[in-house]
Order: sequence, then C-alpha cells, then structure tokens
Amino acid sequence: MGRAVAFRAGQTVASREDVMPTYQYRCQDCGESFEHAEHVAEHATVQLKCPKCGSEKIAHAPAPFVAKTSKKS
Ligand SMILES: [Zn+2]
Repeated sequence: MGRAVAFRAGQTVASREDVMPTYQYRCQDCGESFEHAEHVAEHATVQLKCPKCGSEKIAHAPAPFVAKTSKKS
C-alpha cells in the first residue's frame, strides 16, 4: 500500500488507487501493440496474452504521453 507508481503523466484526474489506468503492451512475437485497462494492484500480477497471436511474451510499452517534461522558460 502507498507505493508510488512509476508514472505520473498517465494518471487521471482522480489519482487514487482505485482507478483503472490503461497500460500499453506490445507482443514480442508478432509486434502487435494493444492496450489493457487494469487495476493498479492487478498490474503487478496480471498475465496477458497477445490478442493477435496468443503469445505470452508481452512487453510493457511505455505510454506515449509520458514525454520528457521540458521546461519552457
Ligand atoms: Zn502476438
């Protein structure tokens, strides 16, 4: 409990632990990219399969909106 999540930009307005953020994944076998909404607590243990080829070699893809926060002066 109370463990900080790695991302910040992906959080929605209500930054609580009961939100369902959408994670981005990519299949390492066929390269299929897909999204999966899952509970924060569930994210650590969730077992996903590629919706296209059924492979379990799924890599967590960094969310595209987590960009470098370049300070504009
Ligand atoms: Zn696949």
